[in-house]
Amino acid sequence: MNLPDSPYLLYSDGKGNIFEDTTLYASGRSGWDAVDVPLDDWIFLPSGGSLYELPGRHGIGIDTKTGKMRLCKKGWAVAAFIPPAHTGLFLSAYEKEDSAPTLPLFCYTAVGWSNQQFYVPAVRIEQDIRQESIGYEQTKIEAGAANLLKAYPHNRLVKHLMQNCCMTYHCPAARNFALGRWECPVPVSPACNANCIGCISFQPQEESITSTQDRLTFKPFAEEIVEFTVPHLQTAPFPIVSFGQGCEGEPLLMWETIRDSISEIRKHTNRGSININTNGSKPDAVAALCKAGLNSIRVSMNSARKHIYESYYLPNNYSFEDLVESLQVVRAHGGWSSINYFVFPGMTDSVEEYEALRLLIKETKLSMIQWRNFNIDPDWYLGKIGVIDTGERIGVKQLMELIHEEFPELKFGYFNPSMERIRGDFEIDYAHK
Ligand code: SF4
Repeated sequence: MNLPDSPYLLYSDGKGNIFEDTTLYASGRSGWDAVDVPLDDWIFLPSGGSLYELPGRHGIGIDTKTGKMRLCKKGWAVAAFIPPAHTGLFLSAYEKEDSAPTLPLFCYTAVGWSNQQFYVPAVRIEQDIRQESIGYEQTKIEAGAANLLKAYPHNRLVKHLMQNCCMTYHCPAARNFALGRWECPVPVSPACNANCIGCISFQPQEESITSTQDRLTFKPFAEEIVEFTVPHLQTAPFPIVSFGQGCEGEPLLMWETIRDSISEIRKHTNRGSININTNGSKPDAVAALCKAGLNSIRVSMNSARKHIYESYYLPNNYSFEDLVESLQVVRAHGGWSSINYFVFPGMTDSVEEYEALRLLIKETKLSMIQWRNFNIDPDWYLGKIGVIDTGERIGVKQLMELIHEEFPELKFGYFNPSMERIRGDFEIDYAHK
């Protein structure tokens, strides 16, 4: 994107109105530092993106005359929530007042204004269109949800997926299930064996922020799972069923139910991919699922460094080594392995992290990195894991280029791949199939 100059900084009047400050160019944040964003890194804010005002925070910009960094005191700082399939390269840069509230669990990418357009430093990392906002027609979704509830009147899981996930939380995966296409979510676990600081399904009472959705309250039976997943695999385009969703704890705590479901599903159809999104804490359970027919795994992590991972996940009775082994187990059974990599500019692209990531890719023969935006208040996160200095950094874009150069077979994306992508045509164009 050939911008002549950096876009102007944005500020809010605290009433939801946003203005540009033409005396300041927008900067970005990496780790604890406000930095200049390379001109080439700015792209139009993709459709489906939205803007946030950040109460109690003043934006840091670059004076258009002096080139020096200074605060914008005209109003609150502004950040962008960039839509799925895009990875942010820099966070919004601001200075926080002591009384400022902790920000909710969303991503806070830098944003600026130029030529009547909003700009963000980001890359489109995934061509798959499954969560494009334009693809969701509410009337069709409501009709699809009603049909599923009618088709499965006694199924607690379909009821949860349609009434809570689809119609209340507007979960993109649950909406795709209602539309009979692509990836179908299968939450199964009310409990978890980790205590992630930024857990989206459970936040301790003492925390000032709330989880973005409530955790499942029941343990589904294998019969309930099989009842709707088999027809989805048999009829949906590029079908995937995915255990492990944002509205539950850790699915591996329900591995026997998942194993029995997979065995039963595969008696009825070999179509599509059966995937599990997990913290990877139980490699033995993963081995049992692979034997039953699991096709792919996605292990979530904020870091490939043991101490950074464990200071965020606060695991009960498992360790970083267990998730490494889970990734290895799936590859050993010929399955597809991804990491759900929470990208935090300044941490993810630090030299230490880069070295740890290279090691992880090598020792697990990893298939794919899903470069996800980390939905968390940056100051709160770094404070909670006790990181004062994020160390030398190489830039998120440069990190991606270095990893791609060294591991050309390793795929980049944002979503779990369908069997069509796993088995061959990774660049398949969903839009025109
Ligand atoms: S592994 Fe998932 S459910 Fe468990 S604490 Fe972490 S984010 Fe929450």
